Amino acid sequence: MKTLKLLNYARDAWVAGDGSFAEIRSAITGDVVAETGSKGLDFKAMLDHARGVGGPALRRMTFHDRAWMLKDLANAIMARKEELYALSYDTGATRTDGWIDIEGGAGTLFSFSSKGRRELPNQRILIDGAMEPLSKGGSFVGQHVFTPLQGVAVHINAFNFPVWGMLEKLGPTLLAGVPAIVKPASSTAYLAEAAFRIMIESGTLPPGALQFIAGSTGDLLDHLTLQDVVSFTGSATTAMKLQSHPAIARESVRFIAERDSLNASVLGPDAGPGTPEFDLFVKEVVREMTVKAGQKCTAIRRAMAPAQHIDAVEEALAARLAKVKVGDPREEGVTMGALASREQLESVRSAVAELARSARVVAGDPDASPVAGNGAFIQPILLRADDPWGSPAVHDVEPFGPVSTIMPYRDLDDAIALANRGMGSLALSLFTFDPAVAEEFVLGSGAYHGRMMILDRTSAKESTGHGSPLPVLVHGGPGRAGGGEEMGGIRGVTHYMQRTALQGAPEMLSKVVKQWLPGGAKTEGEVHPFRKRIGELEIGYTLKTASRQVNLEDIERFARFTGDTFYAHMDEEAAKANPIFDGRVAHGYLILSFAAGLFVDPAPGPVLANYGLENLRFLTPLYPGDMMRVELTVRSMSVRNAEMGEVRWAVYVFNQKDEIVASYDLLTMNQP
Ligand code: NAP
Repeated sequence: MKTLKLLNYARDAWVAGDGSFAEIRSAITGDVVAETGSKGLDFKAMLDHARGVGGPALRRMTFHDRAWMLKDLANAIMARKEELYALSYDTGATRTDGWIDIEGGAGTLFSFSSKGRRELPNQRILIDGAMEPLSKGGSFVGQHVFTPLQGVAVHINAFNFPVWGMLEKLGPTLLAGVPAIVKPASSTAYLAEAAFRIMIESGTLPPGALQFIAGSTGDLLDHLTLQDVVSFTGSATTAMKLQSHPAIARESVRFIAERDSLNASVLGPDAGPGTPEFDLFVKEVVREMTVKAGQKCTAIRRAMAPAQHIDAVEEALAARLAKVKVGDPREEGVTMGALASREQLESVRSAVAELARSARVVAGDPDASPVAGNGAFIQPILLRADDPWGSPAVHDVEPFGPVSTIMPYRDLDDAIALANRGMGSLALSLFTFDPAVAEEFVLGSGAYHGRMMILDRTSAKESTGHGSPLPVLVHGGPGRAGGGEEMGGIRGVTHYMQRTALQGAPEMLSKVVKQWLPGGAKTEGEVHPFRKRIGELEIGYTLKTASRQVNLEDIERFARFTGDTFYAHMDEEAAKANPIFDGRVAHGYLILSFAAGLFVDPAPGPVLANYGLENLRFLTPLYPGDMMRVELTVRSMSVRNAEMGEVRWAVYVFNQKDEIVASYDLLTMNQP
């Protein structure tokens, strides 16, 4: 492969650094494959461009516009994925490793796109939680909202997943409406640059939305302000250095840190040899050691087993590791590629040497070169620490490669304490078939781990595995893991937004947030709301129905018809004895059915289907002879595509005393 001269993407143009370049070498051959340099970039001007051009353009779009944009970016990556695979091998990655990085990265964008369209409004302000009544008369209320930060997200990424690591941060950032400047780790920057280039060439992004630094960040951090976010992934040492940068401290710049982690995997006390959980544990530890040559922040570094089973665990792991084929990932049959660089190889060897002072190597030879030449190959290394409390290094030193240490525990409390001794980690896995063990572990260890996977025979087949961060789940962990939380669905998006408590009149706030809030203005018209398409409806448009009586015969007929003969509807004495009712009451489902009968307009038209109710509460019992009427108000609307969109209706059922009998949100699919 010829040497790639990596370019920076600054102020919507590709620019070469001037002067000094750093060489990047292939993990497989040791040959120089790329040069990187960012000297001469005007970093302040890049920030200004993002703030002045990219931010405003993104903020003009709605969440749905931005979600569609993410889908286009993911499609662009998928359409040109083979270009990325071709580069990925030189990072030491096998095809499977590359799949996690490249297609896993695109999948993360797809996931954020889909969540954005389903869970966020087709608006620019995001409502957070329910309205809070603040006054007796209801004219002054509170509503939390999120709006996009008006600065820049600076993404500083680790070398191990150059594509996924970039995209998992861009998904939530762009969906929030915030421009980003991406700085990949140098050793695999050529792959990150290629993926970045595909996104730019897709023509999907507005100007200023994304910029790229191929090299050092120069004085970029000096110019950060309160509206910016730094999202860092890498070692604890670099994180601490950056976090204490004067501008970051002075301006209270948001700092998301995803650092290293001594992740644990625990074989439950019930999961001895011969149980499915024992086999699953062995398989998972080996998988975590070898996928991406163990260069995963979530990889299992510490594998714990009941003392009486530790020999069996060692034996089973060693046998499985012996089958791992290390080599050039392009070759048939190779199951583990190389570390990302020779520097990485040296760093792993030195970490193993440190661990070997209090643990012994029981499989693999750290100094062996399994493949001739200048590549960064190493055998998988298994260590054993028989006295885990007397071996602090096994809980402190992160060998960022195919290295794991097994250790015995005495009892469950000991296992929990050992797991927590990692001082905060990204992921823990527990192999048990005993719910009591699992509960004990979650309570004893949850506070120390960002994610916990409890694996047993029933979930193993479909499990995504110990080491897979998922776009819908929080990725991050307390303490040593950095205290950050990435992804986690819409939670991740809010990292790039500001939460503000709005206060005011419900009429005013309804207009601001483009959602009808209780107490907000209601409009009525001649036309039944079911006869209007989404484009013709307005927020607050209300149908007030006629009243109908609910009598004993209705209740009995409903009971016979549905089979719901619960005593509160059928037995006066028993209903009276119930502390809630004064006698027989109408079924809640009868009230809902009669409500529909009151508000529905039956002819075919813009309403396509009822697809659910939310937040249903029955607040006042309806007794035989009572009247009921309904108010149906458009709460919010969201067009999904050319065929349909969702209308959310606030429904209130009242009795003859105007007390609220039931309230709920009705969801319908309507023509746009
Ligand atoms: P690193 O050496 O800390 O580098 C991380 C990033 O910081 C790289 O982009 C690096 O750029 C940049 N950087 C270093 N010094 C900087 C400075 N003074 N100013 C601005 N940027 C600076 O970590 P790494 O070796 O790439 O990654 C391996 C580590 O990351 C492991 O410890 C692993 O556990 C951790 N990790 C954590 C997660 C997670 O989600 N928690 C995920 C993956 C990896 P250069 O490459 O150009 O120096």
